[in-house]
Amino acid sequence: MQIAKSVRLMQRLSGALPRPVVLVPTMGALHAGHLALVKKAKRFSGRVGSTVVSLFVNPTQFGPVEDFHKYPRTFQADCELLRNARCGIVFAPNPEEMYFSDKSTTVVESELSRVMCGASRPGHFSGVCTVVAKLFLITRPNIAIFGEKDFQQLAILRRMARDLNFPVRIVSHPTVREKDGLALSSRNRFLTNKERRAATVIFSTLLEAEQKIRNGWHLTSRVEDWMRASISEEELAKIDYVVAVDPVTLQPSDRIRMPVLLAAAVFFGSTRLIDNRLLE
Ligand code: AMP
Repeated sequence: MQIAKSVRLMQRLSGALPRPVVLVPTMGALHAGHLALVKKAKRFSGRVGSTVVSLFVNPTQFGPVEDFHKYPRTFQADCELLRNARCGIVFAPNPEEMYFSDKSTTVVESELSRVMCGASRPGHFSGVCTVVAKLFLITRPNIAIFGEKDFQQLAILRRMARDLNFPVRIVSHPTVREKDGLALSSRNRFLTNKERRAATVIFSTLLEAEQKIRNGWHLTSRVEDWMRASISEEELAKIDYVVAVDPVTLQPSDRIRMPVLLAAAVFFGSTRLIDNRLLE
C-alpha cells in the first residue's frame, strides 16, 4: 500500500493507475462502516483496477463552533486497517497541502443544501462539495463510493457530479450499524455510556415511524410530530431536526408519498448524530 501525503505525488500516481480507479473519501478514524465501503471499492476495482482511500479531516466543512479540532485522528490505526483491507493507495494530505492560504474558489450546490443538515450547518455542504471536487480532480476516479448514512451528502454529491459533468460514477453503500441499531460513526466514541444507550432512540424511532407509515399514516406532520415526541422521550436527546421528505428533492409534501426519506439529527451532550431510513 502506498501512502501519498502530497497533492503532487497523488496526482502523479493517479495519472498512471490501472483502471478502474475507485475512490473512497473519508475523514479517517475508520470503523466497520468505512471498511464496508472499501470492500465494495475492491469489488468494483476488481483484479486490475485500483482502490484509493482518502483520509482528510476537511476544515472547510466544519463551522466555527464545531468539533474540527476535537475530531478523532487515528492515522496509524487507519493505515493498518487499510493495509489489511488490501487498499492500494492512501491519500492523506494535511490542510496546508490541500488549501492555498489565499484560496478564493469554492463549489456551492444551492438547492439540496438549503435544508436539513445544510440549514443547521451553514457552509457545511459547500465545504464538502469543494473538497470532494478537489479529490475527484486529484485522484481522477472512475467510481466513488459514499455511505447512505450521510444521505443528504450523497444526494448533493450526485447533483454536483451531474451538474459539473464529473466523469465519476457515484455508488452508495447501506448504513452499517451496531447490533442495537445505532449507525456506526467516528463521533460515537464521544458518547458517555448513558448517552450511548440513549442514542439507540434515533434508529428505533425511524423504524417505528416506518411501521406507522406502512400501517396507513399518511400525513407528514403527524409522522414528524410523532418522531419528535418519540425521540424527546429520551431525556438526553436534543433534537436538531426530524423530517419526512422526498429523497430526491429533500422537500416535504403534506401527504407522505413513496418513496420517502425519514431523517433525523439529534444531539447527545455535545455530540451530534444523524441517521435516516429510506422507505421505497
Ligand atoms: P466520514 O469519515 O464520516 O466523512 O465518512 C466517510 C464515508 O463513510 C462517507 O461516505 C460516509 O457516508 C461513510 N460512512 C460513515 N459511517 C458509515 C456507516 N455507519 N455505514 C456506511 N457508511 C458510512
